[in-house]
Amino acid sequence: MKYDFIIGGAGLAGLTLAWQMIENNLLEDKKLLIIDADKKDKNDRTWCLWSKPEMWIANLPINQSWDTATVKGKGFDLSQKLEPYRYYKIEGIDYYKFIIKKLSNNTQVTFIQDVIVYEDESRKSIKTEKSTYHYSSYFFKSYFYSDEIKALSNPKKHFIWQHFYGWKIKTEKAIFNPTKITYMDMQVPEVKGGLSFAYILPESENEALVEYTLFSADLWKEEEYKTALENYINNNLELKEYSIVELEYNKIPMTNSVFAKRSKSIIPIGTLAGTVKPSTGYSFVRNYNHIQQIIKTLKSGRDDFALSGSKRFRFYDEVLMNVLHTGKSSGHEVFGSLYTKNKLSLLLKFLNEDTNLLEDLKIMNTVPKWAFIKAVAEELFESVTTKNSEFFTDLQR
Ligand SMILES: Cc1cc2nc3c(=O)[nH]c(=O)nc-3n(C[C@H](O)[C@H](O)[C@H](O)COP(=O)(O)OP(=O)(O)OC[C@H]3O[C@@H](n4cnc5c(N)ncnc54)[C@H](O)[C@@H]3O)c2cc1C
Repeated sequence: MKYDFIIGGAGLAGLTLAWQMIENNLLEDKKLLIIDADKKDKNDRTWCLWSKPEMWIANLPINQSWDTATVKGKGFDLSQKLEPYRYYKIEGIDYYKFIIKKLSNNTQVTFIQDVIVYEDESRKSIKTEKSTYHYSSYFFKSYFYSDEIKALSNPKKHFIWQHFYGWKIKTEKAIFNPTKITYMDMQVPEVKGGLSFAYILPESENEALVEYTLFSADLWKEEEYKTALENYINNNLELKEYSIVELEYNKIPMTNSVFAKRSKSIIPIGTLAGTVKPSTGYSFVRNYNHIQQIIKTLKSGRDDFALSGSKRFRFYDEVLMNVLHTGKSSGHEVFGSLYTKNKLSLLLKFLNEDTNLLEDLKIMNTVPKWAFIKAVAEELFESVTTKNSEFFTDLQR
């Protein structure tokens, strides 16, 4: 059987695209096949995001949300209201169930559990371990092979991992404050060429997700994360008695390299399309926006699927990555300075790429000057020498 569309990978991007295709009536006379190696029946990740109250957020299976956050570092411990934002938590399994239920009610959609091993662009076919499937319009691809990660090792680009190890823990004593999150606690040992911090998402007074996070080029051994997390819980939280309910141990690529360019009928989505913001590792909202862009393109019959975004903010990401990756300034120094000299809500607005130039300048005025001036110079030089002559015009967008 020939399908109109195939989606390879039913994770955040693949499922969101399928859901939005249904919502936008794009499948009334079209067939969609979704292939994933996994059943998607496990809670394999927790998504967090911040947003102003918006309709699409209200429709999501939100597990919990907060309006206050704490940031901590050397010599500071600040709690702030996030207004106009709230910080939301969505359990992976809830999101998968929420969308798979919608898909299973639609006769135009077929879901197959299988591993894709090869994409044949010329035949518009997808080979899996068990079979071969054909499509007539587009194949949307959201998984990647390890050699695609290797191809990113361009020495002129920055590539670091956001790697984390966290436990959902339960305590006898009431020790957590469920009304606020710890967004970033940098009262942990520094890591060279990156950033180290812990964060806490409290569910109740007795239960929280406590995660140890690093931004760095090198991954650690599992034992090392475990020790760091145990030390944080024992020493920083002064907690000796607790039980572990769940583990979250994973990594996210953070890079200004291009993961995958589209070929004629194979369209990258999700991480592969660059939806992970290089300087933060967050992608939930950017992914949703990219999917909306794809839906518009499909509706209009155009053929432009590339992730659109501001060149100005892309440049800021590159500069921040340069500073961290090359160790021009320590992560604790950069973020410590940002948090103590700016309101957290302004920084979230900046990370959402919603600030104006004046607000950007205000924020830039609070970072370690020489490290950033050097990084700006290096990144400008790199852009001008290797890329396009429209660079300076693009920066104004
Ligand atoms: C543990 C974790 C926590 C995260 N937390 C946040 C967060 O709090 N906020 C945020 O904004 N971002 C977060 N991210 C980053 C990002 O949002 C997620 O990685 C997101 O899931 C990326 O979506 P995706 O669709 O690109 O990839 P995925 O969601 O990983 O989906 C890829 C899918 O492809 C399937 N697949 C893989 N190989 C094959 C194959 N050969 N054949 C068929 N199927 C295949 C996989 O089973 C998977 O279902 C997190 C990432 C991780 C790993």
